[in-house]
Amino acid sequence: MPRVTLNDGHAIPQFGLGVYHVPPEETANLVRTALELGYRHVDTAQGYGNEAGVGQGLRDAGVAREDVWITTKLDDGSHGYDAACRALDESLRRLGTEYVDLFLIHRPGEHDLETWRAFEALQAEGRVRSVGLSNFGRRGIERLAHRTGLVPAVNQIRVNPRTPHQGRQRYHRRRGITTESWGPLREGRLTSHPTARRVAARVGRTPAQVILRWHLQRGLVVFPKSADPARLAENLGATDFELSRRDMTAIDLMRRRP
Ligand code: NAD
Repeated sequence: MPRVTLNDGHAIPQFGLGVYHVPPEETANLVRTALELGYRHVDTAQGYGNEAGVGQGLRDAGVAREDVWITTKLDDGSHGYDAACRALDESLRRLGTEYVDLFLIHRPGEHDLETWRAFEALQAEGRVRSVGLSNFGRRGIERLAHRTGLVPAVNQIRVNPRTPHQGRQRYHRRRGITTESWGPLREGRLTSHPTARRVAARVGRTPAQVILRWHLQRGLVVFPKSADPARLAENLGATDFELSRRDMTAIDLMRRRP
């Protein structure tokens, strides 16, 4: 499993499982199956309502806590210093773990500075290993970094070959921030794109695999969601082959072709 070293020294598995919209009662089974297949990174959020299932799946799979990367995100209703600290306590209780690997502010809110100071304290206490943001723009990031001196380890934004947000990716790189792609398959729609199908046929892989491989070779951290065990295995196959420059360029050009 390839890893990306974040600006705080922690190494995140570059490929994982996203559990947005996975019903709470199905989450433990799905996470367990993914871990048995070899996944080592799960992306959840307080707002997804399925953290308890993630923790249960981890215990059911019998994989050591330190071998799995768990990201969760602060709910919009828990911004502010004290509320963020309490919300993290609740996440840890639901997950049944003593720390999360990565804690993100899910999206900008009214009290981001106080919230970010709470994240700094939680990291110092060791209850959160890495801290980051999601859906933040450059100005919001700069404000927090400037006022606290703490540069987020990641910014999780919607990136896919149709909307790669190259300018934002460049800014992140300059700042030492790792870009995480949410919605990497454009919620599944890119698997029927003619370019994805053509490249897939050329290299003997599936459209989902070539799109996910594009993310990995562009240095992005990716965690596609699927509730289907066959697709979980298919998607993980993105980690074990290489796309040529020509194929990467063909996928880059999807941004110009609807
Ligand atoms: P995605 O691009 O991963 O698409 C998921 C959909 O693609 C699935 O529901 C399924 O229908 C389809 N799919 C998956 N594998 C496939 C395959 N092999 N072949 C064909 N179709 C396939 O979109 P997503 O789930 O929205 O995003 C991934 C993760 O990103 C989420 O689960 C969540 O963890 C995270 N996310 C974060 C935010 C945020 O605001 N930070 C927002 C949305 C999602």
